[in-house]
Amino acid sequence: MNCSITGCAGSYEHSEVVRAIRQGERIIVVEHIPAEVCDLCGDVLFTPETIERLEHLRHTSAAPISTVPLYTFPKSA
Ligand SMILES: [Zn+2]
Repeated sequence: MNCSITGCAGSYEHSEVVRAIRQGERIIVVEHIPAEVCDLCGDVLFTPETIERLEHLRHTSAAPISTVPLYTFPKSA
């Protein structure tokens, strides 16, 4: 499938991506999300089913499989 970004000549390839999702006051990170990623510009497409599952995860209370260090991008001096 050709990239949907105007002017991009790339095409989507099946891949897996990582996304951070805000869950109230905290941020959860989800990895191994199936996605179509443009091999040229990096545009990411999710299927409606994947978006639905991500939305479900936003409300999950299940324990995470791991925790990650969280940083804020530093302000320039
Ligand atoms: Zn593209």
